[in-house]
Amino acid sequence: MGFDIRCTCGRCAISLRPAFPQLSLLCGCEDCRQALAWGAAQGGRSADPLPHLFYIRSDITKVKGLEFMQPVQLRGEAKSTRVYCTTCYAVLAVDHPGYQDHVFMFFKGHCDTSSDLTLKPSAAIYMNDYRDKPIPDIPADIPVLQSFQDPKDQKRFCALPAEPAEGQSLRELIPNMQPLRVLNLAKGAAV
Ligand SMILES: [Zn+2]
Ligand SMILES: [Zn+2]
Repeated sequence: MGFDIRCTCGRCAISLRPAFPQLSLLCGCEDCRQALAWGAAQGGRSADPLPHLFYIRSDITKVKGLEFMQPVQLRGEAKSTRVYCTTCYAVLAVDHPGYQDHVFMFFKGHCDTSSDLTLKPSAAIYMNDYRDKPIPDIPADIPVLQSFQDPKDQKRFCALPAEPAEGQSLRELIPNMQPLRVLNLAKGAAV
């Protein structure tokens, strides 16, 4: 039995071949928070101070509600493409060139999922984006990284699966969704 990722209004669902998440991280970057704040402003769930990211193999067996899904980027030349439901503004999936289409990311609490979410975060990353703000609680036993640009860190935490997907990948689905929306938000700006 596989599992799925669903939006909160029930129009959208992505079914995946069974796999445990590859990785989980806490992310302090301002882009994650800005993207969640934008979604919340459209009616989605409110943004977390420290989003909890899960990375799962991009091996999709079935999809529902593609016509309600929209890829969104915060600004031109953004690297991350976040797929929202245009009705409830849940974030279903996030693509980034670094994932090489082997995995995609989702935010715990910003979609519904039957995936196992017990995997402990391996690290808190991009915490330098908290320079002017109070730092949220981070478990004492995980590394706290100021950035996540160092390939050594990426390699340490992000082992990608070697086997190609049997089903469709997130990148294969994106062209069949609503057209890409670029928000042109200034980096770190309130929404
Ligand atoms: Zn929805
Ligand atoms: Zn982030």
